[in-house]
Amino acid sequence: MPSCKETAQLFSDSLDRELPWLQKAVLKMHLSMCQQCKAYTQQLLQLRETFQHLGHHSQEDTPPLPESTRRKILDAVKAEKGSL
Ligand SMILES: [Zn+2]
Repeated sequence: MPSCKETAQLFSDSLDRELPWLQKAVLKMHLSMCQQCKAYTQQLLQLRETFQHLGHHSQEDTPPLPESTRRKILDAVKAEKGSL
């Protein structure tokens, strides 16, 4: 059983790439039992949707959100979760 920290890492990986089925199963299992991680992943998904929404409405020549900025946001969300 992964810790909450490992689960958060797995989840953020799952946004970047397709996870092996075993990791996905572990992630899903943890989320079904842990309210804190469930809330955290929902928060991340909402952020992601917000960015996709913004991207959709921006000019074509607007560069996508840089990886470094995205990481900073993810870290901020993680830090917030850690302070709970
Ligand atoms: Zn958890």
